[in-house]
Amino acid sequence: MSNHDQQPCKRILLCVLSSLVIQSAHAAYIAVDTGHTPLHPGATGASGRVEYLYNLDMSTALAKDLVVSGDRVLRTAADGKEISLQERSIQAPDADLFVSIHHDSMLQEWINAGRRKEFSGYSVFVSKKNSHYEQSFVCAQKIAEQMMLAGEKPSFYHATPVQGENRPLIDKRLGIHQYDDLIVLKTAPIPAVLVEIGVIANPDEETRLSKPDTIRRLSLAVATGINACLKTKAQK
Ligand SMILES: [Zn+2]
Repeated sequence: MSNHDQQPCKRILLCVLSSLVIQSAHAAYIAVDTGHTPLHPGATGASGRVEYLYNLDMSTALAKDLVVSGDRVLRTAADGKEISLQERSIQAPDADLFVSIHHDSMLQEWINAGRRKEFSGYSVFVSKKNSHYEQSFVCAQKIAEQMMLAGEKPSFYHATPVQGENRPLIDKRLGIHQYDDLIVLKTAPIPAVLVEIGVIANPDEETRLSKPDTIRRLSLAVATGINACLKTKAQK
């Protein structure tokens, strides 16, 4: 390569370096929690596949999307080892956000009554006992907005006035629920959000949520929402 040819290369290198500097200036640090463990796998899908595996697929895709966008990620419960709820939320005390990924079921009596297909959609939870509630709520809004833009609908199953549910809806349009005593949310020393991606007890929804395309689309929606909310914080 001649000296003349090296000039564009130098310019490209400078462009790459400056974009990296810009990227790192906005880089966020996010704790991505995979809900449950292999030993205590959470809900069971209509097919029998357990929730932990859905959470693992989605949180793996989410962590990749965040890293690609320049963020730093620490993962909890992705290694398959047992970990308590309290331990999960304090692994990255200097992170900008703790996000816990789950997939939903419904009351057993509704499953027994053949009502599986009545419930579908995502839901987002925040705790007013979290020490950074306001920022948690902003992140919940941004994530939910992106889920809706990706074509998903909020589920109001957790707001149903039955014992064990009846969670207050802080934002009905976006499907954001208040759940003050959710342990990972209230014990996190940083802003924290829990996302139920969809209802795997519904066989139609489970089939859809199993597809790699759906996982890619929804992980990108959550990642975009996270980056939007942390950018909002940075601009304050
Ligand atoms: Zn769960």
